[in-house]
Amino acid sequence: MPTPPHPDLRFRIEAQAGAARAARFETPHGSVETPAFMPVGTKASLRGLTNAQIEAIDPEVLLANTYHLHLRPGETRIRELGGLHGFTGWDRPILTDSGGYQVFSLAERAQVTEDGVRVKSHLDGAPLFLGPESVMQIQEALGADLIMAFDHCLGLPAPREALADAVERTTRWTRRCAEVRTRDDQALLGIVQGGTDAELRAQSAAELIALDLPGYAIGGLAVGEGGDLLRKTVAHTAPLLPADKPRYLMGVGPPLDLLDSVALGVDLFDCVLPTRNGRRGFLYTHDGVLRIGARAHEDDQGPVDAECACEVCATYTRAYLRHLFKTGEHLAVTLGSLHNVHFLVTLLKRARAAIQDGTFETWHATFSARYAAGEAAWRKAHAEDPHAARRSREAQAARRTETSPGEIDDA
Ligand SMILES: [Zn+2]
Repeated sequence: MPTPPHPDLRFRIEAQAGAARAARFETPHGSVETPAFMPVGTKASLRGLTNAQIEAIDPEVLLANTYHLHLRPGETRIRELGGLHGFTGWDRPILTDSGGYQVFSLAERAQVTEDGVRVKSHLDGAPLFLGPESVMQIQEALGADLIMAFDHCLGLPAPREALADAVERTTRWTRRCAEVRTRDDQALLGIVQGGTDAELRAQSAAELIALDLPGYAIGGLAVGEGGDLLRKTVAHTAPLLPADKPRYLMGVGPPLDLLDSVALGVDLFDCVLPTRNGRRGFLYTHDGVLRIGARAHEDDQGPVDAECACEVCATYTRAYLRHLFKTGEHLAVTLGSLHNVHFLVTLLKRARAAIQDGTFETWHATFSARYAAGEAAWRKAHAEDPHAARRSREAQAARRTETSPGEIDDA
């Protein structure tokens, strides 16, 4: 059987501000307006949120994890239950990752060969093999609108030789993914690797662009390289990608990283940060991250963020939220996730509007200055606090898990 053609996403740029783009493309489950933040529902669920709550947040695309769904409940069952859309009752665009990031997260246990990666399931230690062909079979059964090529992702820093090897293997695997496709309604995106090495990024981009896929992602970042190298690598890599196709930066979620990357020409983002941080009581605001557990909020009758239009900010006080978190109520998880996902999804919708009305540069600078000032003020207050050492350890642990490639159970 000949390989079917790739679907035409009909990607079009509606407005630009420097390298930043407001664009739109089509999928079988509707249009996607970019820039957009795609919330991550690891096990086909945004933990703690109902479809109605997600609908109110109005994300352009939801993300689900191939590795987790392959283990439970299995792609065959999901296919028989109507694919991810039928199974979850979510009738809008969905993207599945390739599972590559998850299998390489199990690095000590992962054995890489040209065929793919052999690991042990993080659930029960059962042997598990994922390669380009099986990953495509799984993603075709899951039936998402956007699917990802199987890539070799390394934690950073990594020796140049290992990075070069991963770049070349990623190209070969991506070609195999493109060749074994049997569906013409799922857009396959390739993932550019190369760590923070400019030459390798250029090589990876060129090799993947030659395969003429419907879109491209920048992978292998937010794995320990730090904000400056992240920006530098995105600044170098984004312009190498085709201007007439979506560009997706994988695994990046801090608000300032998102907006700086939009300014560099990236369209799509995903990250487990908003849900993971939300569950832990780290809530985004225009003035930086609000630590809801802080004693200062015990009697605070204000909302998390007076400028946020989400259900949480419209209904609940900081004092009540702090109480929910301190007492470990389930509702805390729901409300923390709901606010944070709403905040990031809305932030990128706002960026899109600013690109369209010609105010992006000013808006971006104003947002970033205020957010950074809030974070600096917190760090200063925190440094003068007698319990600072303990909290600093906690905050550091939280930051580590935000970017840790080793974490499996995430969203
Ligand atoms: Zn809110």
